[in-house]
Amino acid sequence: MEIQWALGADVAMAFDHVVPGGADLATARDAMERTLQWLERGARRHRELSDGRTVGQSDGERLTVRPSDSPTVRQTMWPILQGGAHSELRIEGLRRILDQGEWTGLAVGGLSVGEPKAVMYEMLERLAPRLPPAVPRYLMGVGFPEDLVAAVARGVDLFDCVAPTRNGRNGAAYTADGPVNIRNAAHRDDARPLDPTCDCETCTTFSRGYLRHLFVAEELLGLRLLSLHNVRYLMRLTAEMRAAVRAGDYERWAADWRRRYTQGETT
Ligand SMILES: [Zn+2]
Repeated sequence: MEIQWALGADVAMAFDHVVPGGADLATARDAMERTLQWLERGARRHRELSDGRTVGQSDGERLTVRPSDSPTVRQTMWPILQGGAHSELRIEGLRRILDQGEWTGLAVGGLSVGEPKAVMYEMLERLAPRLPPAVPRYLMGVGFPEDLVAAVARGVDLFDCVAPTRNGRNGAAYTADGPVNIRNAAHRDDARPLDPTCDCETCTTFSRGYLRHLFVAEELLGLRLLSLHNVRYLMRLTAEMRAAVRAGDYERWAADWRRRYTQGETT
């Protein structure tokens, strides 16, 4: 908590113990109990830091903290809900997180860690009506386009994930017409952009053929260009989702998006 405070993060995250997707009930409960205990200790320390109290010794150095000078730089702290793929455990964990205090946001962790996608969707559906309606919901570590679209339908507001850059470095790009593997020989002489609907620097500057050449030649620029595109793709996707939610038209929008994304080319 001290490090997050010193870094000046806007949102400090609680600590959590993540278990693999197939973890049994006892293992998942053990991790959840630990996560709840850490939350209590972390929140206590965070209150001390927010109040400007001097913090104890750490590595021989005394860290003195002051309250934020203005409300705009004040740090908030969010809990993380664990519980594996056991919905009853997650519902109990959520109740106990809410019993610990009022939060400005709430994260759901430990999903998309090897369990079937249907299990993740079911967890989100069970939790959705129980989450405080006015508090942002952050689904941690989820970043594939189809998962974002499915999770927003189930009430999620925020995401973070390594997928867009990790996939980009592997030559996998998200496009409006589905995933593209730029290493595929089919792109060798392709003068079209990676995604004709995209306004990113990669798509407005380079052809698929050139991007493929970069990967085949093991030129590092290729990794960067696909990563940039994938991040931009997700930003445009979330902007579209926001617009559809505001227009009250999300279901239809998501069906159209899914049809194009899953029936498009997959080369
Ligand atoms: Zn692009």
